[in-house]
Amino acid sequence: MEGAIAAETRALLACARAWLAELVEEGVDAFPRVAPPPAAAATAAPAAGAGQLELAVAPEAAPAAERPTLAQVREQLGECTRCRLCEGRTQIVFGDGDPQAALMFIGEGPGETEDRRGLPFVGRAGELLTQMIEKGLGIPRRDVYICNIVKCRPPGNRTPLSDEVASCRPFLDGQIAAVQPRVIIALGKPAASLLLGRDVAITRERGTWHAYRGIPVMPTFHPAFVLRQYTAENRRLVWSDLKAALERSRL
Ligand code: URA
Repeated sequence: MEGAIAAETRALLACARAWLAELVEEGVDAFPRVAPPPAAAATAAPAAGAGQLELAVAPEAAPAAERPTLAQVREQLGECTRCRLCEGRTQIVFGDGDPQAALMFIGEGPGETEDRRGLPFVGRAGELLTQMIEKGLGIPRRDVYICNIVKCRPPGNRTPLSDEVASCRPFLDGQIAAVQPRVIIALGKPAASLLLGRDVAITRERGTWHAYRGIPVMPTFHPAFVLRQYTAENRRLVWSDLKAALERSRL
């Protein structure tokens, strides 16, 4: 009998280990702490790093206990000169939309129109994204939150370099912590790779679920890619990814 219990315990532990390894692989480094019932709360000692149960691998884990406001994150960003992208920008493009949105879209970095207008996704790719949100999903753009990995336009719209991404990352994490979306949609390879913590082949991984800090992540094609390869198939794939994301955000 004791042997059987020990074997079952070992099997359960092996399952738990495998599940945790999967979560770490997907970039999850912490779970939100669920408040204990009042009686237990009265006696519970405050945990170090309260509010989070940290997994073994926590690469650049934020002190995620408090929920900052977007205004606080924007204030911390200030008139940023942390990386070279500040040299070519007209203005910082922080983010746009509902501070309590269920859906958060993360792109790469502002383009020319965004740099001029100070808003993310308002150029050609942005028009397509707006159409997909409003006509495709049937929700007003103002009901979602949209931002980018980097907040300043990379010269010639090149992909942001790793040190630029690293400089901006605390502010993206701050935006995620402030909005606490139910689902994140990673637009294109750079956003998906950043959130998943590894080099992502977007054609392979779009349409599959992942997680970032406990938040479900759906990678999909960047609207600029869809504009370049404007096929019925690509539009159908993005549409199905966005629909899945909206449905999950409503569970
Ligand atoms: N492409 C992006 O990734 N972000 C924008 O804001 C505009 C175009």
